[in-house]
Amino acid sequence: MSWFKKPKFGGILTNAKKTDMPDNIWSKCDNCGEILYRTELDRNLSVCSHCGFHFRIGHGKYIKILLDENSFVEKYMTIRSSDPLDFPDYRKKLRKGEERAGIPEAIVVGTGKIGGIDIAAGFSDFGFMAGSMGSAFGEKLYRIIMDAVELKVPMLIVSASGGGARMQEGILSLMQMAKTSAALDQLNKAGLPFISILTHPTMGGVMASFSSLGDIIIAEPGALLGFAGPRVIQETIGEDLPDGFQRSEFQLNHGMADMVIPRKELRPTVTLILQGLLNRYGEVPETTEKSE
Ligand SMILES: [Zn+2]
Repeated sequence: MSWFKKPKFGGILTNAKKTDMPDNIWSKCDNCGEILYRTELDRNLSVCSHCGFHFRIGHGKYIKILLDENSFVEKYMTIRSSDPLDFPDYRKKLRKGEERAGIPEAIVVGTGKIGGIDIAAGFSDFGFMAGSMGSAFGEKLYRIIMDAVELKVPMLIVSASGGGARMQEGILSLMQMAKTSAALDQLNKAGLPFISILTHPTMGGVMASFSSLGDIIIAEPGALLGFAGPRVIQETIGEDLPDGFQRSEFQLNHGMADMVIPRKELRPTVTLILQGLLNRYGEVPETTEKSE
């Protein structure tokens, strides 16, 4: 099957500089520097047609790309972070995150369908405080996983959480690692599958808890996936790191991911996996080609 093949894109980021150009017409690829027509880029699910670089996208696009049209029903929208430690500037950061990502917390959860199969799902969003997990994030995720157990449906989580566990809530953020992991254990005991999709970047306490607990772990090409980042590791051990360290392809070769799948193949791949795991065969949606 084509999705088991390793993609050619190596995922090494360069520091291509952005030039002044109208954002709404052209975009410059962060990896190869190619100037891309925005409409074409959107049609290609924000993947560079020249080098295969996957631009970061928000929760809304992942919902459109992965789920059956209009099937997503959002839940627990009113749960939002407070400022339990009175951390400097935290409230301001929460407000900014809400403005930027258009959501009140760094994760959106709900129920939906993929290829006609009912699922429960969570989508973290880098746009809100780097997709970091605080107590509201953890509570929303915990509740939707327990809903999956009750509804007897599989769980899908798309992670885009470079911020890991949110430092502004200290130990309360770290507790969410245990809480979400315990909920996934309930899902496991109920015999229900969990598919974890890792996107750039997924790090820290998120990677060290629910994100890496998938029965099947799928990574987008070139994503940075790990606990501590490469710079911290390099400074700690005082040695140069190999090329592509902690990128999806590296993690695939080291057993931390089960497959690396390009964005446009995610939907058919997840459908096939769910059909296989649930022993419910049917139509497989075609490769996603267009995002609106
Ligand atoms: Zn490119």
